[in-house]
Amino acid sequence: MHISFYGVRGSIAAPGASTIKYGGNTSCMHVRLNSGENLIFDAGTGIRRLGIDMLRHSEPILLLLSHSHWDHIQGYPFFRPIYQPDREIIVFQGVEGNAVALAAILEQMDGSNFPVHAGDLSSRIATIDEVEKYLLNKPYKTERKDLNHPGGGHAYRVEEDGVSFAYVTDNELEPPGKPHTSYDEWVEYCRGVDLLIHDAQYTEVDMPGKHGWGHSLIWQVRQLAVDAQVKNLAMFHHDPERTDSQLDEIALESANYFKSGNSKIGSYIAAEGLSFELKARKDPRVSTINLLEY
Ligand SMILES: [Zn+2]
Ligand SMILES: [Zn+2]
Repeated sequence: MHISFYGVRGSIAAPGASTIKYGGNTSCMHVRLNSGENLIFDAGTGIRRLGIDMLRHSEPILLLLSHSHWDHIQGYPFFRPIYQPDREIIVFQGVEGNAVALAAILEQMDGSNFPVHAGDLSSRIATIDEVEKYLLNKPYKTERKDLNHPGGGHAYRVEEDGVSFAYVTDNELEPPGKPHTSYDEWVEYCRGVDLLIHDAQYTEVDMPGKHGWGHSLIWQVRQLAVDAQVKNLAMFHHDPERTDSQLDEIALESANYFKSGNSKIGSYIAAEGLSFELKARKDPRVSTINLLEY
């Protein structure tokens, strides 16, 4: 399977001279499975560029949202496949039983907040509530988990042909009060994945002021990678204030952290254009890392 990042920033898009290397667009990740299916995780501003890349073919798309906060839905009106008459798009909106959240991705296209109305799109768009039922007969396995995040949401773990990844963003590993998912449950959920993509928005200086805001500290995420014995970690959902040089430092610090613990975990800072090819189990490490040409 092929995993590509199109948006890695949290909270709000942060374009500018200090974010050129890792990118300023908000959450969006594309996965092309071996079966040929296209999964998109979140529709932040990064989905605009993905939409242009996807115009080359007309395959169906499954869009899985972690939740409906703005930084995860705001790119959707600029996702060009939604204007293609023959395109089939299935959207799972991430938060069940919450009418506001369920409607958010489509309601932003109401003719007032955006000039085109969701009802006037030419593609065939269906929203689904029961994602497990929809995925039941697919050639890959998907498992969801409740996020520790204000308003709720879901993480996704996907497995196909013996390789797996977990997409866990907008998740506070140690929130104040009772978590929806405990740290030990996260360890079990992420255990052994070939690639863990996890929210790593905060550093110690953000605390205690941002405790309870629904994001994790970088050191907590590294600890989770070790405890869950993942093969590779991609730190994701970077704070909008985090500059390229700070992320370079975090990259170095993380590589040293794993090395000093004699861990073989590959550690990456998610960046726009970074892609991973995950190959079968006999090649247990991520085999190639390519930069997409922009
Ligand atoms: Zn977010
Ligand atoms: Zn959020």
